[in-house]
Amino acid sequence: MSGQVDRPNSPLDPARRPGFPEVARDALGTPLQPTVVYRSAGPDALDDIYEGRADGFTYAREGHPNAASLAARIDAMEGGQGGVVLGSGMAAITAVLLGICKAGDHVVGGNQLYGKSLKMLREDLPRLGISTTLADAGDAASIAAAIRPETRIVMVEVVSNPTLRAADIAAIAEATHAAGALLVIDNTFTTPRGFQAFEHGADIVVHSVTKLLAGHSDVTLGYACARDSALNEAIGWANATFGLTASPYDCWMAERGLATFALRYDRAEENAAALAEHLAAQPGVRRVLYPGRADHPDGARMRALLGTRFGNMVSFEVDGGRAAANAMVAAMPDLPFAPTLGDVGTTLSHPATSSHRGLTPEGRAELGMSEGFFRISVGIEDIDLLRREFTAGCAAAHAAAQAAA
Ligand SMILES: *Cc1c(COP(=O)(O)O)cnc(C)c1O
Repeated sequence: MSGQVDRPNSPLDPARRPGFPEVARDALGTPLQPTVVYRSAGPDALDDIYEGRADGFTYAREGHPNAASLAARIDAMEGGQGGVVLGSGMAAITAVLLGICKAGDHVVGGNQLYGKSLKMLREDLPRLGISTTLADAGDAASIAAAIRPETRIVMVEVVSNPTLRAADIAAIAEATHAAGALLVIDNTFTTPRGFQAFEHGADIVVHSVTKLLAGHSDVTLGYACARDSALNEAIGWANATFGLTASPYDCWMAERGLATFALRYDRAEENAAALAEHLAAQPGVRRVLYPGRADHPDGARMRALLGTRFGNMVSFEVDGGRAAANAMVAAMPDLPFAPTLGDVGTTLSHPATSSHRGLTPEGRAELGMSEGFFRISVGIEDIDLLRREFTAGCAAAHAAAQAAA
């Protein structure tokens, strides 16, 4: 059932609800089990649990029913098995990198990864004796050139944020596997509905479940799943040892959110395509980036990766720099100006003052990220409402740009 959520309110299988009280295993909704500590029948029974011969839990930091239930649902969507749910997307990335790599190993990462992933590769892994190289994931030759004999992991995202460029996943997977390294794909942006990472050569898939999967900006959670069960065990032990554990309540909330994920994704995607067209027709809009638009610079590669599932993210640039950007936001008071993505409602962010404020203006210019550059995480609102908001926002930005000219 790859790419699909299982029947939203069915327990996956009563046997896959270990740890829930017997009477709650057939509950229509997933029960919430906040206990930290589990009793067991005795030393032999504990051996059986620790050695994998019996289902069960011991201590919530090492795993608990709500994390297991949520992981099984995301496994079904990704076409994976034995995935691990952790306390945030960064916890998932940390568990993958530190659970698998050792000092002396080398990691290659896309140079437009999520900001904290970049920081981990630039600063934290080298501090621990794991060397790293960043390269452009849109150019497989530069990734291949960065790979060394001691490279253990190559980590990329499918569509870059907020520049919405496509990674050359097929060639990167080939170069990674030829070197005996593992390809880690952060599928947060594209989601399993847009991109089936294992089918495109991923050895490990990671998610910030915080974003589209949970979908309501009310939990932080992550997920990691390897093809190889020994790697999943390593990730699970990193979770337990480094204390990257997800809260049962957050898992329970995310599972509730996941029940409507497919509906939310489809609606948001439809809105994003329509809003991209609308923006392109507004005065003062210099360019619109949406993976499904005919003028997208990576059109053919996007279609090869995503088929027709182009997602909910739109970026655009207006003339007039910071003054126009301020006017745009001020003219849309009902549209949350907030640097996040994947909420059920539309949010607007300004990379130059949020996600990419650490770069120099020249560094941002290289990425095409001027003061007039915005990113929209499109939600499920009535599209007419969104059109009205952005008509007003673009008109105000255009007026500000002309006043300054
Ligand atoms: C948000 C995000 C992360 C980090 O996830 P958290 O849940 O905030 O820790 C990682 N990768 C991508 C692509 C993200 O958007």
